[in-house]
Amino acid sequence: MLRRIVLPAAVAAAFALAVYAASERPPAAADKPLPEMKFDDVREIAPGVFFRYSSISATDPSVPFGGSNHTWVVFKDYVVVVDANFPKEAADVVAAIKKTTDKPIRYVLDTHHHGDHAYGNGVWAKEGAKLVAHKNAARLLKVNGPKQWEDASKDREDLRKTELKQADISFDDPYVLDDGVQRVEFRHFGHSHTAGDAVAYLPKHKILCTGDACVNGAFNFMGHSNSASWIKCLEGMEKLDVDLVCPGHGKVARKDLLATQKRYFVDMRAAVQKGIDAKKGLDEITAGLDLPWYKEWTGKAAKDIKDNVKHVYDELTGKVDHERLGAAPPPLDWRAEPRGFAGR
Ligand SMILES: [Zn+2]
Repeated sequence: MLRRIVLPAAVAAAFALAVYAASERPPAAADKPLPEMKFDDVREIAPGVFFRYSSISATDPSVPFGGSNHTWVVFKDYVVVVDANFPKEAADVVAAIKKTTDKPIRYVLDTHHHGDHAYGNGVWAKEGAKLVAHKNAARLLKVNGPKQWEDASKDREDLRKTELKQADISFDDPYVLDDGVQRVEFRHFGHSHTAGDAVAYLPKHKILCTGDACVNGAFNFMGHSNSASWIKCLEGMEKLDVDLVCPGHGKVARKDLLATQKRYFVDMRAAVQKGIDAKKGLDEITAGLDLPWYKEWTGKAAKDIKDNVKHVYDELTGKVDHERLGAAPPPLDWRAEPRGFAGR
């Protein structure tokens, strides 16, 4: 009895689904659910575009730091990769790429000169790739690279076993790769996380890979940043037609991540300025920094990221010469105290 009732209902439901499927256009990328990804997972987020989610946590110290996220784009004859990571992680990513395509890796973008985005350059060069960086990132890697590499080598075996490789191609703006099927534009919006940040924009897929100019979580190291300019850079990115943001660290997100990232700097600058106007000292300003939405977003209270508050305080009290930022070795890991950083 039950069978006779259930079966026609199931048939009707299947029919309805078929009609729905035939009448509906495939959902736009903006309507598709964001991919649920575990650390080291790789997903094809658009035809020929792959994203690898690297492990990171600002709140759980048991999570190993897996360096930067990666996006790669499979062109007709070659592969373009966003970010070089550290050498060990770069080798892991090369292996992951080879599971998705047998085409050669031809171009790798260093989104900036920091170790987790550029120190794996030698690994990619061995694959036959050209390393591409904005001219400021290429300069910073040249000026700071050797000393910082040496410092970082003390903690990283992969650096002791390899050598620092400089960028092959440095561009002003923009640098475009287009074979009629895929198009990737490397663009520089100005001084944000560093003086040499570049993003990778995929206009056909409405995807923006931001490096650390936009991250998803409490992963902003600000020691080499210009927070006022950073806000303007994010506003420039917001003008692009974007559905998906692939951040330098943290999960893939919608376009609104750009506004969320921007709000951190806008709100922090406003709060710090208010404190300065009220003649408060840095400690008092830091302790009073109350951005509940930030904790909701990242799991971490903004007042607990003291280095960032100090950087903004120093900027707003005229102690930072942005022209010289990046002239000293940057820290390897923003969760640790900056080592030897004298950015002014
Ligand atoms: Zn990074």
